[in-house]
Amino acid sequence: MKLFLYLSIILLVSVLFRAQAQVKPPVPGFSRGDSLRGELTPLRTCYDINYYHLDVKVNIDDRFISGSNWFEFTATADFKMLQFDLFANMKIERIMYKGKALTYAREFNAVFVTFPKVINKDKKDSFQVFYSGYPTVAKNAPWDGGFVFSKDASGKPFVATACQGVGASIWWPTKDHQSDEVDSMTISISVPNGLKNVSNGRLRGTKKLQDGYTRYDWFVANPINNYDVAINIADYAHFSDQYQGEKGILTLDYWVLPENLTKAKIQFTENVKPMLNAFEHWFGPYPFYEDGYKLVEAPHLGMEHQSAVAYGNGYKNGYKGRDLSGTGWGLKWDFIIVHESGHEWFGNNITAKDIADMWIHESFTNYSESLFVESRYGKKAGLEYVHGTRGGIDNLEPILGAYEVNNEGSGDMYDKGGNMLNMIRTIIDDDQKWRQILRGLNKTFYHQTVTYKQIVAYINKGSGKNLTTVFDQYLQHINIPVLEVRFENGKTLCRWIADVKGFDMPVKVRIKGGSYQFIQPGTIFTAIDLPGATKENFEADTFNFYIGILIE
Ligand SMILES: [Zn+2]
Repeated sequence: MKLFLYLSIILLVSVLFRAQAQVKPPVPGFSRGDSLRGELTPLRTCYDINYYHLDVKVNIDDRFISGSNWFEFTATADFKMLQFDLFANMKIERIMYKGKALTYAREFNAVFVTFPKVINKDKKDSFQVFYSGYPTVAKNAPWDGGFVFSKDASGKPFVATACQGVGASIWWPTKDHQSDEVDSMTISISVPNGLKNVSNGRLRGTKKLQDGYTRYDWFVANPINNYDVAINIADYAHFSDQYQGEKGILTLDYWVLPENLTKAKIQFTENVKPMLNAFEHWFGPYPFYEDGYKLVEAPHLGMEHQSAVAYGNGYKNGYKGRDLSGTGWGLKWDFIIVHESGHEWFGNNITAKDIADMWIHESFTNYSESLFVESRYGKKAGLEYVHGTRGGIDNLEPILGAYEVNNEGSGDMYDKGGNMLNMIRTIIDDDQKWRQILRGLNKTFYHQTVTYKQIVAYINKGSGKNLTTVFDQYLQHINIPVLEVRFENGKTLCRWIADVKGFDMPVKVRIKGGSYQFIQPGTIFTAIDLPGATKENFEADTFNFYIGILIE
């Protein structure tokens, strides 16, 4: 009887545990579809993707695609079923395993495949998904996702994909989670004769098919994000150059519409090498020498497609001809070349495991713009640029998104994140150390996917300062901290008003006209040592510190 009771309890506990493991309570405001897309369930962690061969034919007239993706993986646990992702509007023709069709089920944009027998941990195996359909046409790329169909000046097709956020599974079958990057990939894209396709990596060859199509076979030798895998089709003109960089010779290849060739030669020459020079100095070697660096003209503004950066800024300086900083510094260079290429380090080399942490991509890349300005026009110019971008901050929603539901945080991940990083540099107060931290991040997390904690811990360790509450306040809360200052009985008292418990950010203060000194208040009023300070002459460095001030 007792034994029976024990067994019942064990059974009950294990049933409850399994139920809990498989169906977690929904995250408020998000759907089951969001969880299927964003959550790392055992059906996704049971395999590690090693290699894809994506082979797709693009029928431009019908806006229809068909083809297959070959998955090679290593099992990380024993399993019989796995999940990959493909949008529900795309048809699965069949899924093949060792010459036999596998059974599968679909729910929202997830596909659950069952293998005939258990695949054991550490085993390498493969399957192939054949599919077709009319992929989503993006309405506002690159802000939404899908295919963009356009035409060049002579009426020839000009087609591209962009799918950050919504996900690569909008057009191809893949394990659509940022935590798992394929180690290498072949991208074969067949296009109507007379057009070219430019994808990521290096062109291995082309093959004339019998049906009026030509196949372009590209090979990516490095790990790559799903959303970076791109199609770019046009009657491209091509020119090339080389850059003598930290790791040797980096090939530069440019693919542009024929009518823009002259403009492109000027714009790319003026921007690309200075950009590489600045970023290799601050962040370390370009992370994908094996795959080369490319700019590919696209019928949308731009996207950080790894080793094949999409460019659509109209060969103008600034952001579509505008200066996002309002300081004048932003009009001296091409925003899309600099920003999207900055992502090769932050986004492509170092990738956030969960897109809730997209600030790891966008805050650092936004900040990279000011380092580019600094490298060309001096430190003062760079600081003015980053300060100028504060005009773009909303402070309406936190920068951090919700985990495990494929949710990006707010647009403040750009300008507010960039200002946060400039402030952290100011706190560290040692530019050599700051540079070593930025380079160290790219070396330590080379070709890896990372978490919030890992990045913050690395910067804490590298700087010798505990900056966790600073990151937490700026990333997880809407409000910026306010430095409250009181003058009582000849004393100057300071404290922080902040959301994060124990917030104790160092900040620079001075008496007007004097030199700045660091103080480190907490959230309780304490006296600071600033002889002669009054309500009228007290000043905090609000140029470099993005904070509020309340003087009483
Ligand atoms: Zn970006």
